[in-house]
Amino acid sequence: MFDWDPRKLKAIEPYQEILEVYLINAKNYVNGYCTKYEPWQLIAWSVLWTLLVVWLHGFIFQPESLFSRAKKKFFRIIRRVPIIGTKIREKFNKTREDIVKNLTFLKVEDEYVKNLPTEGLSTPHILERLKNYSSLENSHWEDGKVSGTVYSDDDKLTELLVKVYGDFSRSNPLHPDVFPGVRKMEAEVVRIVCNLFNGGPESCGCVTSGGTESILMACKAYRDLAYEKGIKYPEIVAPLSVHAAFEKAAHYFGMKLKHVPLNKKMEVDVRAMRRAISGNTAMLVCSVPQFPHGVMDPVPEVAKLAVKYKIPLHVDACLGGFLIVFMQQAGYPLDQLFDFRVKGVTSISADTHKYGYAPKGSSVLMYSSKEYRRYQFFVSPDWQGGIYASPNLSGSRPGGIIAACWATLMHMGENGYVEATRNIIRTARFLKSELEKIKGIFVFGNPQVSVIALGSHDFDIFRLSNLMTAKGWNLNILQFPSSIHICITLLHTRPKVSMLFLKDIRESVTQIMKNPKARTTGLGAIYGMSQTVPDRKMVAELTESFLDSLYSTDPYQGSQKNGSPKPH
Ligand SMILES: *Cc1c(COP(=O)(O)O)cnc(C)c1O
Repeated sequence: MFDWDPRKLKAIEPYQEILEVYLINAKNYVNGYCTKYEPWQLIAWSVLWTLLVVWLHGFIFQPESLFSRAKKKFFRIIRRVPIIGTKIREKFNKTREDIVKNLTFLKVEDEYVKNLPTEGLSTPHILERLKNYSSLENSHWEDGKVSGTVYSDDDKLTELLVKVYGDFSRSNPLHPDVFPGVRKMEAEVVRIVCNLFNGGPESCGCVTSGGTESILMACKAYRDLAYEKGIKYPEIVAPLSVHAAFEKAAHYFGMKLKHVPLNKKMEVDVRAMRRAISGNTAMLVCSVPQFPHGVMDPVPEVAKLAVKYKIPLHVDACLGGFLIVFMQQAGYPLDQLFDFRVKGVTSISADTHKYGYAPKGSSVLMYSSKEYRRYQFFVSPDWQGGIYASPNLSGSRPGGIIAACWATLMHMGENGYVEATRNIIRTARFLKSELEKIKGIFVFGNPQVSVIALGSHDFDIFRLSNLMTAKGWNLNILQFPSSIHICITLLHTRPKVSMLFLKDIRESVTQIMKNPKARTTGLGAIYGMSQTVPDRKMVAELTESFLDSLYSTDPYQGSQKNGSPKPH
């Protein structure tokens, strides 16, 4: 029987009376009738309960789910268990060494420069020394062996960009009064791109430093809009396939990212998206196409939800924006609308530094109306340095990049983009149909744009990426599910390159299929294993050692057997 007596506990002495009342009342309820209480007892009792309920509510309903917090706590405790903890630590350090050892770019023969030269160097001297650095670059990108990354190798354009950057290298759009030309160019870039996406007269936007900043800014705007509506914990409802920049935005801006599963075609499951919408939803997201499998999310269907529930919808066209707007003219019409013509689409991001062919460091974020862009701005009316206002993340910004972006749009022209799009889509469709014929691998979903993702039911697909790496290719490795992809750029449209790609894939698959169950080695094995580690925090910590290694100025890193630094 239940015979716990609260009076035995010293710690709750002060509450004894209240608890006694509670026990008496409980007994009375059990006996089926209610007896008298003193008014103060009633009040004290309700206060206690209210406090308990408030505390429980706060404990359970936090931005991070109870399950996720419990899981983290569990792994933290496991790591502290004496013997197991040490074992985990040892394995952790070993894996970290393996990762660093596999990072080929760390294998530098030369000494690192660690201090300023006492006297500045002459121009010829600097240019001479730069040759050592450019020789470190992996030249495979020029052969077209790298997925995505470099989108154009138009020498005439590069020459133009160098000149334009030079002319505007000192300019800064933070000071439009000093550099009115750069302001005009930025405004024109935004207007041109808004028109490409069929924005109305109210449409507007800004130029950012890249896709990530465009996404961060859209999320920030919708967060602040949600705050204004009284939402305390704003949520981003986005497909599982959405770019990591949305998770970064959630992390930076105190939002929660609610992932929505995909259907078999790798498009977002619209019904699941509807179920994920709640009173906390600040925004919905679609990608056209998404990065992992190059598949278009069904924008018109998601937009219907956005209209119905009055939630903003961001369309991430960072990757394919400058292809999809030209596909109709290029002779490859898409089967759905994706731009401001769709009622409910409130913002779109499109990267000029991808298929816009501008140099890295520019992207355009567009809104259907200024009512949304307002929430993105930052204004400090009280700063000692003067009233301060900036449209996006940075303060000072490189005017040279905006000028180069503008010049690229002028250089390409509508016909240039249509032609480039035609070549890229033609290549992608050809590769897709050929890849689908290869036994042992399959293509994910129906990629209509420029990315093709491969998987296999017969072997570990990371073995294919290992073999392709050995042949000089640099493909993207994806997870959940394991897959690899190639993002087709202008560099792959040369028939020689696409034929070589197919030949290398065919040869590699044939080789693997001789022994499909063999073990995966190298980097592929690390990727495969990392997916099975339940402690995701540990995977994150391991990955941090990759970031650390980027700043290494130790010439012996990566070439070491035991990982400990060599004494100098
Ligand atoms: C590339 C990309 C982005 C943004 O990436 P940045 O590297 O910051 O330009 C966003 N979404 C998708 C789908 C992308 O492919």
